[in-house]
Amino acid sequence: MTEANPSSAIDRLQSVRDSIKAAETRYERQPHSVTLIAVSKTFEVAAIRPIIAAGQRIFGENRVQEASQKWPQLRQEMAARGEDLELHLIGPLQSNKAGDAVALFDWIETVDRDKIAKALASEIAKQKRNPTLLVQVNTGDEPQKAGLSPTETDAFLVRCRDDYGLTISGLMCIPPVNEAPGPHFALLTKIARRNGLGIISMGMSGDFETAIQMGATHVRVGSAIFGARLGF
Ligand SMILES: *Cc1c(COP(=O)(O)O)cnc(C)c1O
Repeated sequence: MTEANPSSAIDRLQSVRDSIKAAETRYERQPHSVTLIAVSKTFEVAAIRPIIAAGQRIFGENRVQEASQKWPQLRQEMAARGEDLELHLIGPLQSNKAGDAVALFDWIETVDRDKIAKALASEIAKQKRNPTLLVQVNTGDEPQKAGLSPTETDAFLVRCRDDYGLTISGLMCIPPVNEAPGPHFALLTKIARRNGLGIISMGMSGDFETAIQMGATHVRVGSAIFGARLGF
């Protein structure tokens, strides 16, 4: 895992916060209508602590295993100070990890097939936990990418509710890397609105301002805060 230079990470956090605020104004969004999720994947707890100290409370991780090695400790440190954190799973979930995911994460943003919906429903009942759930949409219909096809999303949302008893609060997407993200963000917002869903998680370091323009309520920003990652 990677170390970050803490002081510059704090400067970058502040600059991302400023950019979010400026984009809310520029695109006539309500003040504070966009929530920043700091994506800490690949960074060690020592790199995350200063970002927590700077007031950030919402974090995203894309691997259950990696998160389970970092976050119980950080949560415990916060609990000792009477504070809490909100941890989002933003990477693919295997059904055999559903139990770990429900135990560890406050939000699961990557519900994307019936098998996962079913496994989550059973773990939620068993553990009496109530994570906020988002459905991932593969807006570009990319064969290698997780998420529901836009044409299958409405029916999947109905099955989540009626067949599995799950409350889905919103949608997330990761647009194709080599296409303009705007139309993908617009499509996700359209699918969310027609299904009455209020939460829209989209936009990363390179395109979060466009996502805010197109209706994002949550942006997931990693490298613009923590610095470049090695590997993925
Ligand atoms: C890594 C990741 C991000 C953050 O990406 P950056 O470009 O570093 O901001 C956002 N969303 C998901 C799903 C990711 O895996």
